[in-house]
Amino acid sequence: MDTIYIFVTGGVVSSLGKGIISASIGKLLQARGYRVTIQKFDPYINIDPGTLNPYEHGECYVTDDGMETDLDLGHYERFTGIRTTRHNSVTTGRIYQAVIDRERRGDYLGKTIQVVPYITDEIKRRMLREDEKDEQFDFVITEVGGTIGDIESAPFMEAIRQLRWQLGRNAVCVHLTYVPYLRAADELKTKPTQHSVKELQGMGIQPDILVLRTERHLDDAIRLKVASFCNVDLECVVQSEDVPSIYEVPVRMQQQGLDAAILRKTGIPVGETPAMLPWRRFLDKQRGAGRKVQVALVGKYDLQDAYKSIRESLNLAGIYNDVKVRIHFINSEEICAENIAEKLAGMAGIVICPGFGSRGIEGKIIAAEYTRTHDIPTFGICLGMQMMVIEFARNVLGYRDANSTETDPDTPHNVIDMMEEQKSVTEMGGTMRLGGYECRLTEGSRVWEAYGRVSHVRERHRHRYEFNNRYLDAFERHGMVCVGCHPGAHLVEIVEVPSLRWYVGTQFHPEYSSTVLHPHPLFMDFIKSCIDGATEA
Ligand code: GLN
Repeated sequence: MDTIYIFVTGGVVSSLGKGIISASIGKLLQARGYRVTIQKFDPYINIDPGTLNPYEHGECYVTDDGMETDLDLGHYERFTGIRTTRHNSVTTGRIYQAVIDRERRGDYLGKTIQVVPYITDEIKRRMLREDEKDEQFDFVITEVGGTIGDIESAPFMEAIRQLRWQLGRNAVCVHLTYVPYLRAADELKTKPTQHSVKELQGMGIQPDILVLRTERHLDDAIRLKVASFCNVDLECVVQSEDVPSIYEVPVRMQQQGLDAAILRKTGIPVGETPAMLPWRRFLDKQRGAGRKVQVALVGKYDLQDAYKSIRESLNLAGIYNDVKVRIHFINSEEICAENIAEKLAGMAGIVICPGFGSRGIEGKIIAAEYTRTHDIPTFGICLGMQMMVIEFARNVLGYRDANSTETDPDTPHNVIDMMEEQKSVTEMGGTMRLGGYECRLTEGSRVWEAYGRVSHVRERHRHRYEFNNRYLDAFERHGMVCVGCHPGAHLVEIVEVPSLRWYVGTQFHPEYSSTVLHPHPLFMDFIKSCIDGATEA
């Protein structure tokens, strides 16, 4: 079959959950046996979100091939299990960079380079994934960031308009809008949706399918009104009501025939509705999980989205362990030796979060000391692992001034130090140790058991600093051991204190590869240990 291109845009307000809808469409089509990919186009000028502060756009997600991307790629992977690549994340910055590089090389032979057609052509090329001709997809879903009407998304809309014209039935436009409820009038209002569609039409794009985000159920009269004002078939007006979990969304969309509507638009026979049994089993487990387990997230960003993948990985691992994980964010900047016991009271386990820079790290070190000395399950990720190492060096090995050279370049005990190949790096963007690397596990270790007794795993990284091997002997003699290392370079990737119940730090980010149907083994094992502890208490 020809590849079908689905474009997902959003109107009225941001944060409607375009990423979840795109991921759900991907999931539903995948369940029908189609080969699907999902990509995100962001209209900002940064080349990638790697240099963005998490307060701007939440977590930076990392693909296996080492691209720093928007957190929506995390939803795509968690929903579909598809491994995304650098082709799945495009920004205005990257588009311009490609065009400007060509201009500098002289490829345009003296032409005036304008937004139309040069920028729009480059957008189209990427929407069509022309760099990846050897990869075959039945459906390419393209989500465009931002909201209709933004100045900066205009070139993307123009590219979609042209592609629709060019692709005919092989293109489908899904537009997500918002239907607010006005309490004073006790009414749901469709006007913003009408305006948003009009705006889209003004750019030459007629949406095929409308997904209406709403906090209240929309009856047929409202859907009919939207359909007739917006030139969309009634069966193509779908509602996305608030649900207790984002993972319910694919099923809700399937119930309303969103995937069937897409197939009908393209002329593909609809066929039987897939049962999606593994997904439904997961949802049943989620609904059934009653017992609560309290887990602390120790980090410096007091913002839900900053640790998105970690939160989701914990939730998923909880569901598969039949518990509801209650995550308590603890701001590491507010932690001190005097209040740590109070802050961690009632916690069955803690995660020490990744991060950059010095802000809040002493709080992470205090937390690591408390959980080590009180044998509370502890999972340190990247910077979190580094803080566990520093704490151990200071308080067990007796190197009172041990530190990472990221925080203290002159520390005499640089137990965490910059990687050799990073020393010559001067640019910040995209220059860390990024993406998937092999890790060899130590047979007999707890993590080796957790991973199902495999000798090697592959995990994703995003860091410049690492464990300083000069100190490895001293650590191992005192009970913190390396249980995972890079086979070639002997970089320490996992440390563990085997005498404790669960005290593990990973230099890599396991949270990036946890999915709904395959929760990550380390998160599974961590939660299991939290549950065991909670029973004893
Ligand atoms: N700042 C640390 C480093 O660069 C840790 C990075 C992280 O937590 N992702 O090594």
